[in-house]
Amino acid sequence: MKKWVILLALLLGLLLWIGDRNLNRTPGTEVQINRVETDEIAETAAADTKDTTNAPDAPAGNDSSVRTIQVTPDQIYKGDLVLVNQDHPVHAEGMLSDIAELSRHPELTEGYGLLDNKIQLSERVAKQFSAMVAAAGEDGVNHFLISSGYRDNEKQAELYEEEGPDYALPAGFSEHNLGLSLDIGSSLEAMERAPEGKWLTANAWDYGFILRYPKDKTAITGIQYEPWHFRYVGLPHSQIMKEKRFTLEEYLSYLREQKQIQATIDGRTYDISYIPVTGETAIEVPTDRDYEISGNNVDGVILTVYPQ
Ligand SMILES: [Zn+2]
Repeated sequence: MKKWVILLALLLGLLLWIGDRNLNRTPGTEVQINRVETDEIAETAAADTKDTTNAPDAPAGNDSSVRTIQVTPDQIYKGDLVLVNQDHPVHAEGMLSDIAELSRHPELTEGYGLLDNKIQLSERVAKQFSAMVAAAGEDGVNHFLISSGYRDNEKQAELYEEEGPDYALPAGFSEHNLGLSLDIGSSLEAMERAPEGKWLTANAWDYGFILRYPKDKTAITGIQYEPWHFRYVGLPHSQIMKEKRFTLEEYLSYLREQKQIQATIDGRTYDISYIPVTGETAIEVPTDRDYEISGNNVDGVILTVYPQ
């Protein structure tokens, strides 16, 4: 009889250990990031015209099937990668146009709660959040709630009064004013200790979201550790930021420095370039691959070319 009790206790211990490991696991995503040398592109392009057997070595962004489009300065201020902080305010262009009151959209709020029925968010971001919550549910983490989403200037000003400059930003300087950020809570306990907080810290990156104000980056973000505040930036950017342990500030500086990088994630290659925009600027985009352009809210745009 005693043996059984010991065995059962051991088994229970093992299960708990596996569960805990599972929660803090490093996902099996393989991320490789390379800088693309501009010279290299030119050389490979030249080689390609002579001998097509060189093609497998060519960077994927080096296709001949490109067309030229014009980027206008207003595009600097909109898109999923715009940097908003105490130095870079939200521009009218940056506010998402699909802001919805979530309580009116039961299809967007499955599997999590809302702190109140006035909470608003971009519909597109809410869809991504739902997908992430569903994935967490498969790991047995399912007590999420959204405590804040999109905030207009009036609400932001109120909050700034209440919370002060360590935790809140003045109206017009908060990501909440874009519709791309949300504060996520757990109905179990404070996010820092809750399984929901731990799961998000480890896994949100694989769903396009980033922990925007990490504990060890307060000197860069200027904001105290906020285990509840997540920002949507989209894939593959969140995965690259996870791999490099970058804040949004650091990631955008890195892109500006590198000019062009290639990120291979689980064998799929993305080409990401930073393009400075002063006036109307001509840029080359592929005709045979999907791409997206986002401003950085400072001085240019990021072109993301998706795998074929
Ligand atoms: Zn927040």
